[in-house]
Amino acid sequence: MSGLVVDGVDVHYGRVHALRSLSFEVGEGEIVSLLGNNGAGKTTTMNLLSGLVKATRGTITWNGTDLGSLPAHDLVTHGVVHVPEGRRIFSTMTVHENLMLGGYRVADASLVEKRVQQAYDLMPRLHERRKQQGGTLSGGEQQMLAIGRALVAGPRLLLLDEPSMGLAPLIVKQVMEIIAEVNQQGTTVLLVEQNAKAALRIAHRAYVVETGHVTLSGPAAELADDPRVVEAYLGA
Ligand code: ATP
Repeated sequence: MSGLVVDGVDVHYGRVHALRSLSFEVGEGEIVSLLGNNGAGKTTTMNLLSGLVKATRGTITWNGTDLGSLPAHDLVTHGVVHVPEGRRIFSTMTVHENLMLGGYRVADASLVEKRVQQAYDLMPRLHERRKQQGGTLSGGEQQMLAIGRALVAGPRLLLLDEPSMGLAPLIVKQVMEIIAEVNQQGTTVLLVEQNAKAALRIAHRAYVVETGHVTLSGPAAELADDPRVVEAYLGA
């Protein structure tokens, strides 16, 4: 199938069995969310997809390309771009410089300029702050900058690790709206979130991950009404 297919993946950290026969799919054009509590294996899954940890079993393909055998730095040439947890922007560089860095693998300078402009159009706040150092931004603005930098790399599959972390509810809403807009403009999104409420609002489908394994999956609207999800993840 086209899109991302994770099939029967195991990951071990020494004796810790972090992912256990994990399987899920993200079709091209979708926003799919992986939901789960602390320690469920969400970050491990992201690190697996971005080549930072290796599976001991199973396969990962993106539009037929075996991602499991690619080194992390080659993923971006296949359109797979990761926004890690904690944002990791460069705090002593300006907003504009941070955005430009997203294009470090893009040979065409005019294309980088165009994508930076598109990021500013999508997030005018970044344009207002383009000369400020990254470290002076609010948490929400830093998350926008991390997303903007990823967009400049030209993702076809955007991997977002807990973009809502540490943000106030109103800012979470803004960040989620930006992610939905990025998706509407044609980018496939895998959204890993502990904030199930926010993620289910914009996702098309979602998977619940517990101790490294999918325990529930379905259309986001159905999961949002599922009593098991409501009780465990929506705080009702
Ligand atoms: P969080 O939201 O806290 O990041 P998570 O769902 O992302 O949680 P992971 O960080 O992927 O979960 O962790 C999955 C399991 O693997 C946990 O049991 C965790 O303790 C373990 N783990 C994660 N990283 C390592 C590591 N570097 N060495 C050993 N065990 C690890």
